[in-house]
Parts: sequence; C-alpha cells; structure tokens
Amino acid sequence: MTALADRLAARIRLAGPISVAEFMEEANTFYYASCDPFGAGGDFITAPEVGQVFGELIGAWCADFWQRSGSPDPVLLVELGPGRGTLMADALRATRKVAGFGQALRLHLVERSPVLRAKQAAALGAHAPQWHESIESLPAGPMLLIANEFLDALPIRQFQQHDLTWHERLIGLDASGEKLAFRLAAQPVIEVPGGAHPENEGKIRAVGTAAEKLGEAIGTRLRREGGTALFVDYGYDRRAGEVALGDTLQAVRNHHPVSVLDAPGECDLTAHVDFAAFARAARFGGASVYGPITQGAFLLTLGLDARKAALLRHATPAEADAIEAGCRRLIDPAQMGTLFKVLALTGPNDRLPAGFAPGPT
Ligand code: SAH
Repeated sequence: MTALADRLAARIRLAGPISVAEFMEEANTFYYASCDPFGAGGDFITAPEVGQVFGELIGAWCADFWQRSGSPDPVLLVELGPGRGTLMADALRATRKVAGFGQALRLHLVERSPVLRAKQAAALGAHAPQWHESIESLPAGPMLLIANEFLDALPIRQFQQHDLTWHERLIGLDASGEKLAFRLAAQPVIEVPGGAHPENEGKIRAVGTAAEKLGEAIGTRLRREGGTALFVDYGYDRRAGEVALGDTLQAVRNHHPVSVLDAPGECDLTAHVDFAAFARAARFGGASVYGPITQGAFLLTLGLDARKAALLRHATPAEADAIEAGCRRLIDPAQMGTLFKVLALTGPNDRLPAGFAPGPT
C-alpha cells in the first residue's frame, strides 16, 4: 500500500466510499507534486517531449492568431499544466522573430505542482512567467491559451449499469477492510441520458465533471475578453461515431499500464476526454468551438513536413533519425495521430483559428 492508499482507506473507514473523481483528484495531486513523470526515465512521454516540431508549430499557430487579431498588446499567453515547460519553450523559440510578439506577450502558467513549477522556471525563466493554481486568478485581457494532455488528468465521475439502472462507481474497501476496491452506490442515479438497455449491463460511462466546469469557465472568459484556447488530448469524438461506453480510466507507471487502485499517488491517472461534452460546456459559456480534428491532420495542415525538412537540413544522421521517428509518432494513425485530437475555442467575434475548417462546429 502507498502512503496515500493508507490515508484514503482511513478516510473511507470513517466517512464511507469516495467517488472516482475524489480518488483521481487526490491521487494526481499527490503524484504530480512529488515527481517528474515525463520522458524515457519517467512514467510516460507526451507530444512536446517526442519532438520540438510539436511546440514550434503550436507557437506559430498562436502568433498567427495574434497577428490576425490585430496584434493586441499586451496579450496573455497561458498554458495549462505545462509539465517540464518544453512545449512553451519550443513555442517561444519558434516565434522569436515575429515582430512585436515577444514584447506583447505576458506568460501565465497554471500549474499546481511545486516540483514541475521549478522545472518550468528553469525552462522559461527568461520570459518572467507568473504561476496560478487555477484559471480563476488570470488577469483580464485577450488570451492565447494552450493545453496539452491537461484535460485527461482532470477528475471524472463514473457510472455503471447494474440491473437496468445506473449507479455511481465508488471506491470503498474490500472484505478485509484494508484494500481499496471498486463498488457501486446502493442508490441508482435518477436518470441517465439514453436510459438503460439490457445490452449495456455492466458497461461504464464517464462524466468529465472537472473538464466541463473548466470548458464553461474558459468559454465565459473568451466571450468577455476574446482570444483563443487550444486543447490537445486523447479522447473520443462522438460525432465520428467513437464510443462513449467503456472504462477509460487508466493508470500508467514506467510506460506500462498498472491497476488503477494499486498504487495511488505513484502512477499517472488519466481518462479519455469526451470532446463533445467539453465542447458543449464551452459553447454554453459563450465560446465558438472548432473541431475536434485529429492531431495528425492538424499538424500536417500547420506545415509539419516543411518544418521537418528545415530541421533535417542541419541534422546529423542520428538526429535525422530521431526527427523522422518523432514526426512519424506525432502523426501516424497507429500512434498519436488519430487518438489524439485538437479542439479550438475562440471568442464569438474572433477569427478562424488556423488548421480548422471555417464555421464553428
Ligand atoms: N502539458 C505537459 C504535461 C502534461 S501532464 C506535456 O504535454 O508534457 C499534466 C500537467 O498538468 C502536469 O503539469 C500537472 O502537474 C498539471 N496538472 C494536472 N492537474 C492539474 C490541476 N488540476 N491544476 C493545475 N495543474 C494540473
């Protein structure tokens, strides 16, 4: 048992089972606060760590939106969950030559983990970032917001169909009274959209409570202040017929899946993002929504091939192999190209963000 599992077990003994959301919140807060999980030596690898092209193209995307919006000065450049700061460092380097952008931008990072804040300070200190616990404390003004693999770490609630009614999935204790174990709430939930069907017995559905709240808050803010927000994450797009029934909660340690309840606080917990629900919440807040489109399509439209060719011109043979492999990993449908999706929000009077088809979805 981990120290956190002990603490959660003690709480459950006193106050009863907790929701999957409460479990995820506790486990991820502990996890990110205590380690640097990224890269080959860590637990998982994210797109900015796969290759610099990713952050460079997103930087160019931000600068393009800024220019077409009349180059507001100042403009907030915001990242949610910047990890090691790699994406932002690549984005800032790629936009160094965009006239006026460097002077106009005010860098704001939303990050709770003290360990990762220190890494971000090392990578981005020259740009005088300000840190925030949440988006609530961001100053007013137009913004360019980016978030890669942030939504998937936010807490979800889960519900499971049992005897033709849906029950919340909770975490309690097993028969020994010591180990964490899944169980269902005794009381069914009143209503679930789509109802209950015999063929769905045992199936699980998730509600991304925290992501939806965030989507609405960002939508409200974009309606008032203008700007754009770009979310890159893995998840499903119901418009494309991708399934919404299934247990997508997963724990990853040392690049391998592990059991969700085994080592809370010592592995990364994520769940597929429900892009349709997130988009609905953002629209409710007042934003225009573009996408989701696949990460592969997005990066290719933004000019991945040209950027790759430019990098290859100055690369050693070993570097060239790494650049080729990294780019392939980002766009290959069998790797990150299709599972990862990109969604953009803008204020209702803002321009079309690059890479998306005209007309909000
Ligand atoms: N964007 C980075 C890191 C993704 S991991 C990359 O692509 O490599 C998730 C990041 O979000 C971490 O930096 C983690 O500390 C942060 N995070 C997770 N939940 C958070 C929350 N509720 N508030 C603020 N930061 C959070």
